[in-house]
Amino acid sequence: MVSRLDHVGIAVKSIDQASRIYEDVLGLKVQGIEVVPEQQVRVAFIPVGDSEIELLESTNADGPIAKFIEARGEGIQHVALRVNDINEALERCRNAGLRLIDDRPRKGAGGALIAFVHPKSSNGVLLEICQR
Ligand code: ZN
Repeated sequence: MVSRLDHVGIAVKSIDQASRIYEDVLGLKVQGIEVVPEQQVRVAFIPVGDSEIELLESTNADGPIAKFIEARGEGIQHVALRVNDINEALERCRNAGLRLIDDRPRKGAGGALIAFVHPKSSNGVLLEICQR
Protein backbone atom coordinates (compact mmCIF):
# COMPACT_ATOMS: atom_id res chain seq x y z
CA MET A 1 0.00 0.00 0.00
CA VAL A 2 2.78 2.44 0.95
CA SER A 3 5.38 2.65 -1.79
CA ARG A 4 7.99 4.93 -0.23
CA LEU A 5 8.85 7.71 2.15
CA ASP A 6 7.68 10.62 0.01
CA HIS A 7 9.08 13.50 2.02
CA VAL A 8 9.85 14.91 5.43
CA GLY A 9 8.25 18.28 6.17
CA ILE A 10 10.39 20.72 8.14
CA ALA A 11 8.98 23.92 9.62
CA VAL A 12 11.41 26.79 9.17
CA LYS A 13 11.31 30.52 9.81
CA SER A 14 13.00 31.27 6.51
CA ILE A 15 13.27 29.08 3.41
CA ASP A 16 16.06 31.31 2.11
CA GLN A 17 18.13 30.76 5.23
CA ALA A 18 17.33 27.06 5.64
CA SER A 19 17.90 26.16 1.99
CA ARG A 20 21.47 27.49 2.24
CA ILE A 21 22.35 24.56 4.49
CA TYR A 22 20.94 22.02 2.04
CA GLU A 23 22.34 23.70 -1.08
CA ASP A 24 25.62 25.33 -0.09
CA VAL A 25 26.71 22.84 2.55
CA LEU A 26 25.09 19.55 1.56
CA GLY A 27 25.09 20.04 -2.21
CA LEU A 28 21.38 19.45 -2.73
CA LYS A 29 19.22 21.60 -4.97
CA VAL A 30 15.92 23.33 -4.31
CA GLN A 31 13.73 22.10 -7.14
CA GLY A 32 10.84 24.48 -6.78
CA ILE A 33 9.12 26.90 -4.45
CA GLU A 34 5.37 27.12 -4.30
CA VAL A 35 2.82 29.03 -2.21
CA VAL A 36 -0.17 27.05 -0.93
CA PRO A 37 -2.64 29.76 0.09
CA GLU A 38 -5.11 27.38 1.81
CA GLN A 39 -2.32 26.27 4.14
CA GLN A 40 -0.84 29.78 4.51
CA VAL A 41 2.51 28.33 3.67
CA ARG A 42 5.40 28.67 1.24
CA VAL A 43 6.96 25.35 0.36
CA ALA A 44 10.38 24.47 -1.05
CA PHE A 45 11.10 20.99 -2.39
CA ILE A 46 14.58 19.53 -2.16
CA PRO A 47 14.97 16.10 -3.77
CA VAL A 48 17.09 13.59 -1.87
CA GLY A 49 17.33 10.37 -3.87
CA ASP A 50 13.79 9.02 -4.27
CA SER A 51 12.46 11.21 -1.47
CA GLU A 52 12.36 14.89 -0.71
CA ILE A 53 12.81 17.39 2.04
CA GLU A 54 9.94 19.86 2.15
CA LEU A 55 10.75 23.17 3.81
CA LEU A 56 7.66 24.93 5.14
CA GLU A 57 7.62 28.66 5.83
CA SER A 58 4.52 30.41 7.09
CA THR A 59 3.08 33.22 4.98
CA ASN A 60 0.95 34.40 7.87
CA ALA A 61 1.68 34.98 11.57
CA ASP A 62 -1.48 33.02 12.43
CA GLY A 63 -0.87 30.13 10.03
CA PRO A 64 -0.42 26.53 11.18
CA ILE A 65 3.34 26.55 10.56
CA ALA A 66 3.79 29.82 12.46
CA LYS A 67 1.87 28.30 15.35
CA PHE A 68 3.93 25.11 15.20
CA ILE A 69 7.19 27.10 15.38
CA GLU A 70 5.84 29.27 18.17
CA ALA A 71 4.95 26.20 20.24
CA ARG A 72 7.84 23.87 19.43
CA GLY A 73 10.46 25.78 17.51
CA GLU A 74 11.72 24.96 14.03
CA GLY A 75 11.98 21.28 13.19
CA ILE A 76 10.36 18.21 11.69
CA GLN A 77 6.65 18.91 11.35
CA HIS A 78 5.41 15.85 9.48
CA VAL A 79 6.42 12.67 7.69
CA ALA A 80 4.76 11.88 4.35
CA LEU A 81 4.20 8.38 3.02
CA ARG A 82 3.38 7.85 -0.62
CA VAL A 83 0.52 5.52 -1.46
CA ASN A 84 -0.93 4.34 -4.75
CA ASP A 85 -4.53 4.73 -3.62
CA ILE A 86 -5.16 7.42 -1.02
CA ASN A 87 -8.84 6.54 -0.58
CA GLU A 88 -7.98 2.95 0.22
CA ALA A 89 -5.24 4.11 2.62
CA LEU A 90 -7.64 6.44 4.44
CA GLU A 91 -10.21 3.67 4.66
CA ARG A 92 -7.65 1.38 6.28
CA CYS A 93 -6.62 4.10 8.74
CA ARG A 94 -10.26 4.77 9.57
CA ASN A 95 -11.03 1.09 10.06
CA ALA A 96 -8.02 0.79 12.36
CA GLY A 97 -9.45 3.57 14.52
CA LEU A 98 -6.85 6.19 13.65
CA ARG A 99 -7.93 9.79 14.01
CA LEU A 100 -7.94 11.52 10.63
CA ILE A 101 -7.50 15.28 10.32
CA ASP A 102 -8.79 15.09 6.76
CA ASP A 103 -11.79 12.87 6.17
CA ARG A 104 -11.18 13.02 2.45
CA PRO A 105 -8.13 13.80 0.31
CA ARG A 106 -7.37 17.41 -0.55
CA LYS A 107 -4.96 19.16 -2.90
CA GLY A 108 -1.46 19.62 -1.51
CA ALA A 109 1.70 21.19 -2.84
CA GLY A 110 3.12 19.78 -6.05
CA GLY A 111 -0.33 18.71 -7.27
CA ALA A 112 -0.46 15.78 -4.83
CA LEU A 113 -3.57 14.49 -3.10
CA ILE A 114 -2.94 14.50 0.62
CA ALA A 115 -4.58 13.77 3.96
CA PHE A 116 -3.21 13.96 7.49
CA VAL A 117 -3.44 11.48 10.35
CA HIS A 118 -3.52 13.13 13.77
CA PRO A 119 -0.29 12.67 15.75
CA LYS A 120 -2.30 11.59 18.80
CA SER A 121 -3.11 8.35 17.03
CA SER A 122 0.28 7.80 15.38
CA ASN A 123 2.86 7.97 18.16
CA GLY A 124 3.27 11.72 18.13
CA VAL A 125 4.02 11.91 14.42
CA LEU A 126 1.83 13.96 12.11
CA LEU A 127 1.52 11.54 9.19
CA GLU A 128 0.76 12.79 5.73
CA ILE A 129 -0.69 10.24 3.34
CA CYS A 130 0.17 11.33 -0.15
CA GLN A 131 -0.76 10.20 -3.66
CA ARG A 132 1.01 11.60 -6.71
ZN1 ZN B 1 4.12 17.46 3.24
